[in-house]
Amino acid sequence: MINFLSLQEVNTQYRNDLVEACARVIDSGWYIGGNELTQFEKDFAYYCGAKHCIGVANGLDALILTLRAWKELGKLKEGDEVIVPANTYIATVLAITENRLIPVLVEPDSHSFNLCPDNVEAAITAKTRALMPVHLYGQLADMPKLLKIAERHDLLILEDSAQAHGASVNARRAGSWGHASAFSFYPGKNLGALGDAGAITTNDGELEQTLRALRNYGSHEKYKNLYRGVNSRLDEIQAAMLSVKLKYLDASTAHRKEIADIYMKGINNPLIYLPLSTSVSALTLDAHVWHLFVVRSEMRDALQAHLLREGVQTLVHYPIPPHQQQAYCYLNHLSFPLTERIHREVLSLPIGPTISREQAYQVVAACNSFRGSSLV
Ligand SMILES: *Cc1c(COP(=O)(O)O)cnc(C)c1O
Repeated sequence: MINFLSLQEVNTQYRNDLVEACARVIDSGWYIGGNELTQFEKDFAYYCGAKHCIGVANGLDALILTLRAWKELGKLKEGDEVIVPANTYIATVLAITENRLIPVLVEPDSHSFNLCPDNVEAAITAKTRALMPVHLYGQLADMPKLLKIAERHDLLILEDSAQAHGASVNARRAGSWGHASAFSFYPGKNLGALGDAGAITTNDGELEQTLRALRNYGSHEKYKNLYRGVNSRLDEIQAAMLSVKLKYLDASTAHRKEIADIYMKGINNPLIYLPLSTSVSALTLDAHVWHLFVVRSEMRDALQAHLLREGVQTLVHYPIPPHQQQAYCYLNHLSFPLTERIHREVLSLPIGPTISREQAYQVVAACNSFRGSSLV
């Protein structure tokens, strides 16, 4: 069986480095808010091409706290509208509603499935204050165009970069485009901790200071609380694990690209649609870091069953869009035909850093032998 992703294999690659880093933290006697965090924040900011990085407990907190910080700074207020792609992972929408802001869902670009600039323009109202592009599957949204729209309408941009560590357009990486960018280091992400972790990158010093306080009880200075903050910290062990894995991130991305290349060149079944790059601007698949390799098929469930019989495990990212979730019952009446179709048709092939070329060719063969559902 070719597993979708074996985290054990992923981390075993770096076992010696990880054990050594872990021992270093144990022996230091310092477990929260020390050198490991400071070093990782510095290195990750540099990696992204941003001035600051603020480590937090997870990706959802990175999104929530950034919007919260903008509220504290008077840049957002309750009831303001935030535009997001309707096909995003629910975390993006949760961050908006958690802050009592209004999520305005828009259909994505029909090629990249990322936030569509034209649909954004059409959705802007007098209450729109921010955009949240999600770099889905590892490919940047059309940031050059979105930046222009944001400038014209004086909007904030918070990138959801949880799937796009290292992804770039015009040599400019995720995390350096928006006013702020949220990252997740959930174990399965391209840069994954050995537990939960997240971070925000930004060039805005004022936002940085606010976030540093918010993640730590709202405290700037010990025992002085400026905000009603939370406890959302990236601990020393996870920071140390991430520093090890950051060193290997580009090599791991290069491997993902090789596997993606095998799939792009090898899969030629008319029942399976390969991923497309954005139709607009100068975005190319080169910018892609292939967090997921997502194909589409009108017979998705039959394809998934076929691949499983052929020994290939696949997953669906994601089966239900946010507006059809019980949690958002007040959005259930909305209709987003493209988004709904995406959720019906997508299937993610294995593309982790430990999938071998031989395995990739097996996946290609299994895809090409799919003949459609022989009626259930
Ligand atoms: C993983 C993910 C998140 C949330 O990250 P956590 O660390 O699991 O909280 C947010 N947005 C997107 C697009 C994600 O893929």
